[in-house]
Amino acid sequence: MKLVLLGPPGAGKGTQAETLIDRLKIPAISTGMLLRNAISNKTELGLKAKSFIDSGDLVPDELVVGLLRERLLEEDCQNGFILDGFPRTQAQAEMLDKICAIDKVLSIELADEKILQRLSGRRVCNGCGASYHTIFKPSKVDMICDSCGGGLTIRDDDKPETIKRRLSVYHEQTEPIKAYYKAQGKLCEAYGQEDVKDTTKEVLKALGLE
Ligand code: ADP
Ligand code: ADP
Ligand code: ZN
Repeated sequence: MKLVLLGPPGAGKGTQAETLIDRLKIPAISTGMLLRNAISNKTELGLKAKSFIDSGDLVPDELVVGLLRERLLEEDCQNGFILDGFPRTQAQAEMLDKICAIDKVLSIELADEKILQRLSGRRVCNGCGASYHTIFKPSKVDMICDSCGGGLTIRDDDKPETIKRRLSVYHEQTEPIKAYYKAQGKLCEAYGQEDVKDTTKEVLKALGLE
């Protein structure tokens, strides 16, 4: 299965992808994580992308598409994959269609009022990228990842001013691509406001995987 996860920042795309990886036995690819890795490795692409991410804007399409295209060529993607955070613009959606045929697009919906609370408590693992939350999904040991033992950090772009910008970018540039996939008959939707387990049930139901 080639699956795309859509939804605003903080909706729970990464969290639900963690379950779907196990269930579908395919990797999840987060373009946000690929970009953050490029920044920490100080690659040329990372240096170009940093200012966009810091301000809450989207990284230019050609940079992200190049990075994703390379990742999709790797061995583990040959039986399918879950895209988390890509595409984010109409142009990216069209470029993706040229790379491969997507089977399904799941949009995880969450009201704007909930997002600040989600993102301000988010802690991410430096090692494996797993997402935790200080209140809703605390790690067993403070600031240490349950699955890989890596250290947890607060993302630079999870601060209130940047969150606001990311949210308006989502509504302006990403949300409209739902109509593009709806017209292709590929869109399904799940609500992300319940706790992690109940949201997973919604997600599996929407995907016909119960
Ligand atoms: P979240 O899941 O909180 O929305 P991500 O980790 O997916 O955050 O993305 C973090 C940042 O990386 C985005 O705000 C954006 O600047 C950049 N980014 C990630 N994916 C894309 C993409 N497909 N196109 C452009 N920019 C992207
Ligand atoms: P996204 O990838 O869509 O940006 P994440 O999966 O990183 O979102 O989740 C954002 C934050 O909200 C994280 O701190 C995560 O632990 C928490 N979270 C995810 N799903 C839920 C949920 N259903 N209920 C409460 N908190 C959640
Ligand atoms: Zn980890």
